[in-house]
Amino acid sequence: MLRFTILGFPVTVIWTFWLGAALLGSGSADTREGFQQMLVFVAAAFLSILLHELGHAWFQRKYGGRSQIVMHAFGGYAQGIGRYTRNQSLVITFAGPAMNFVLAALAYLIARSIHFDLFSIYRPYGMPFLTASLISTLFWINLSWGILNLVPVLPLDGGRVLEHLMYGRNPALRFQISAVAAVLVAVAGFVWLKAIFLSLMFCYLAFVNWEASHGRRIRNVFTGQ
Ligand SMILES: [Zn+2]
Repeated sequence: MLRFTILGFPVTVIWTFWLGAALLGSGSADTREGFQQMLVFVAAAFLSILLHELGHAWFQRKYGGRSQIVMHAFGGYAQGIGRYTRNQSLVITFAGPAMNFVLAALAYLIARSIHFDLFSIYRPYGMPFLTASLISTLFWINLSWGILNLVPVLPLDGGRVLEHLMYGRNPALRFQISAVAAVLVAVAGFVWLKAIFLSLMFCYLAFVNWEASHGRRIRNVFTGQ
């Protein structure tokens, strides 16, 4: 387990984080370039998830809370102790995906400045593989994770937004909405993106939320909560 402090926030990286990131990035790791791509993916995932959680943690501290960051397989969370108003909670929640969109925009601007087309499978002549791979991986994972995180499915940030907006109302409803939204993402991911792993993950989130809507609490294997 890796532990360090950044900007005053304690960070714990559970070993499953490295395993999860390597699995997600291991599409063609049986070739030399594929293996390098996997290492780039792990590094980009580390940076992207850390900055995402720092976005949450920074605003928790700004609003008087204390926060620590935990990174685990397929994600992470900023665990805060504090009391926030509804608007503050919304800012804290949006700050995570916002960091991903900032990173994606930076990668896009860097790519543009060196005439690297992120939508093409070719890199400019003479550009080292690792440089191209890092810029394009940072762009694509931050864009897709930023968007995916905003779908209204608990415990993702979009689900948290739903929770803040529905505060005090029928508590089962937010889990039912999460379950339905998760099924829609699972189907869309399978049919249009052929992303089997994404589909399976959202099927699992649909199950967890459906059980929660019936008052049955399932321990989330990703967050451990
Ligand atoms: Zn988040």
